[in-house]
Amino acid sequence: MNDANVTSIDGAREQKAKTPRVVIVGGGFGGLAAAKALGKAPVEVILIDRTNHHVFQPLLYQVATAVLAPSQMSAPIREVLRRNKNTTVIMGEVTGVDKEQRCVFVNDVDREHVPVPYDYLILATGARHSYFGHDEFEKFAPGLKGVADAVAIRNKILSAFEQAEAEEDIATHPELLTFILVGGGPTGVELAAALAIFVRTSLRSDFRRIDPTSARIVLIDGGRNVLRTYAPSLSEAAEFHLQKLGVEIHLGQAVEKVDGEGVIVAGERIASKTVIWTAGVAPSPAGKWLGAETDRAGRVRINHDLSVPGNPEIFVVGDTATLDQDGKPLAGVAQVAMQQGRYAGKLIRRRAEGRKSPKPFRYFDKGTMAVVGKGYAVLQSGKIRLHGLLAWLAWALIHIQFLASLSLRVSVFLQWAWLFLTGHRGSRLIVNYQQSESAQTASPPPATTDRATPVARLETTLTK
Ligand SMILES: Cc1cc2nc3c(=O)[nH]c(=O)nc-3n(C[C@H](O)[C@H](O)[C@H](O)COP(=O)(O)OP(=O)(O)OC[C@H]3O[C@@H](n4cnc5c(N)ncnc54)[C@H](O)[C@@H]3O)c2cc1C
Repeated sequence: MNDANVTSIDGAREQKAKTPRVVIVGGGFGGLAAAKALGKAPVEVILIDRTNHHVFQPLLYQVATAVLAPSQMSAPIREVLRRNKNTTVIMGEVTGVDKEQRCVFVNDVDREHVPVPYDYLILATGARHSYFGHDEFEKFAPGLKGVADAVAIRNKILSAFEQAEAEEDIATHPELLTFILVGGGPTGVELAAALAIFVRTSLRSDFRRIDPTSARIVLIDGGRNVLRTYAPSLSEAAEFHLQKLGVEIHLGQAVEKVDGEGVIVAGERIASKTVIWTAGVAPSPAGKWLGAETDRAGRVRINHDLSVPGNPEIFVVGDTATLDQDGKPLAGVAQVAMQQGRYAGKLIRRRAEGRKSPKPFRYFDKGTMAVVGKGYAVLQSGKIRLHGLLAWLAWALIHIQFLASLSLRVSVFLQWAWLFLTGHRGSRLIVNYQQSESAQTASPPPATTDRATPVARLETTLTK
């Protein structure tokens, strides 16, 4: 190797060492938007997510009710970011942040606490469902947050019908065919409506011993209305439409107990083998990792440039952050996360390019929507209040547009068109991954010790 080559290799190494590193934790709406905004920036980006895929959460209820397959509303993160040559995607669970040393700690396949240094950090770790201090409910009432949750709920719903068909003692049928949703926000309303249509259309003629249309769908909420964050006229319209679909609504009643026999609400038991939790959400523990000020729910209070007070190099975006605008905290919705992620990426890009920082972040509200069954949605945008078919068309168009790739858009559009025309749902499989036949018969795979596996690559990629 001649001297010129050695100099150019040394130069490249030096350049890499000088290039600021941005670590993004979370490949959801906020994290992906940040990574995209940094795609052409003079920085090295490492995006870490505990899963290998981005989940389009607004359509999870359609997986739970067998409209879509999981692969139709989620996409591999590395595929979404494949054009970002400066970006490395790592699958691992972040467990903490050391603000002094400027590194995050990651657990990967077989190692714990691997330090990953950063110059800039964007935390976009979202939220989980919250049982309001009653974590014991979770065992009986799963929540809907990720793909595995949606498949588990789909299994539960379909299994209830299978069990009822097989069960000769008809006295057990009512509790098998009662489905309870706890929480009348958008997820509860969307799921209840989809389930009501599912049992009355797709499942109607498939059973011989039971009548699926006799299924009871119960929606319970402690508040006075469903869709409380919407204008009263839209909440009422949604409630009326749910009732038309046959959903039984219990308002102003908090659930006191959830167990294997159903729920106790207002002192009375409603027997059910399928209870689904669609109530509160709790943010990720990012606030604890940072030792930062949080609101009562645990969301990190951030500055108007989305940085953490006292740490201009750390940004928190999306559901795990809280920021007031016009005297009110911004909602935990996908648009807020996306706009914040984009802003944080843009700000870092400008700093890396030695340019002026952008103006403080301001959320542009494009409106909110909830779908209440086939051909019916409610839409609220500024002063506009819409409900019915037009709102549903807007909902369908916007949701298709925001899916992560063109192939998903085409696939979901065709699936919806098929469902709309025929009422048939393609994803009615009960899949219990823990009981795969091969897992029961084949010998277990050997433990991974090969350091040239992705784990070893993680070590070399992450250590600066
Ligand atoms: C069922 C459901 C329906 C919804 N419907 C709508 C809707 O119709 N419209 C709307 O606007 N909003 C809707 N939302 C809310 C919206 O999805 C969220 O506001 C949005 O996803 C927030 O984006 P985020 O980037 O903050 O978090 P997320 O999109 O949740 O992404 C967080 C990411 O961080 C990763 N992660 C978390 N912790 C760690 C860790 N420790 N280490 C590594 N990775 C980690 C997760 O795997 C995930 O990929 C819905 C939410 C749910 C659950």
